[in-house]
Amino acid sequence: MAELRHRRKFELFDMQFKRVLIKISGELFSLNGSNNEPINQICTNILNVISSGIDVSIVVGGGNIIRGSRFQNNNSIRRETADSIGMLATVMNGIILRDNLLNRGVDCAIVSALDLPFNIRKLNSFVIEELISQHRTIIIVGGLGVPYFSTDTVSVVGATLSCCDAILKASNTDGIYDKDPHKHADAVFLEKITYEFAIQHNLQVMDETAFLLARNLNKPIYVFSSTEPNCFIRAINNEIKCSIVSAKL
Ligand code: UDP
Repeated sequence: MAELRHRRKFELFDMQFKRVLIKISGELFSLNGSNNEPINQICTNILNVISSGIDVSIVVGGGNIIRGSRFQNNNSIRRETADSIGMLATVMNGIILRDNLLNRGVDCAIVSALDLPFNIRKLNSFVIEELISQHRTIIIVGGLGVPYFSTDTVSVVGATLSCCDAILKASNTDGIYDKDPHKHADAVFLEKITYEFAIQHNLQVMDETAFLLARNLNKPIYVFSSTEPNCFIRAINNEIKCSIVSAKL
């Protein structure tokens, strides 16, 4: 079936997308009673990418429960404890996502650096290679299994391990700006920037470790609004407002 797969153009390097990594922030999992609408929407958007013939890896965040960095100097909860809770939060979010995708007929598997029950496989290159060869959707939970990292950094590792052509980050802004557009009316939209520029200007869309690793591993990052209908495939096809971080302009 592989030859029947429709491949999309990757405008930056004139190559075709075969697999993309989608980063899903924990905020989307803030379940409000039985309102699963944000997750339903994101799963529909993921399904549209898969239906277009592009394989998908997903890294799930846990910020809806906790972000460890906020506990750096906390007297009651240690940073390492907060990070452990954050990693477990990504597991809970990931198994919600798996259910939603399985219900839509998506052949997906969860992998984790942590040893976990619930039919979650161990994250290593052999397992990932097997899942890639089967064209399965790979959901990465549990972060890197150690504290002091964010799931943005995990996205870069996951994109590299699972041979993704790009990282797609749906955001609460419609791209990258020179300052927070929610706070500054004169914030300037940045359509294409280098990793160096993002690091030097301390742009907050990802943390510095993630940008440094993306630079070293040369993984382009697409940033766009999570509220755009069909955001992932439309970002790939250059049909929505989107910022791209890469090695060259
Ligand atoms: N985390 C960690 N190690 C990792 C990945 C995540 O300790 O390799 C913890 C960290 O505390 C982080 C939390 O898990 O803040 C949740 O992840 P993140 O903040 O990246 O989630 P998001 O902002 O994407 O919802």
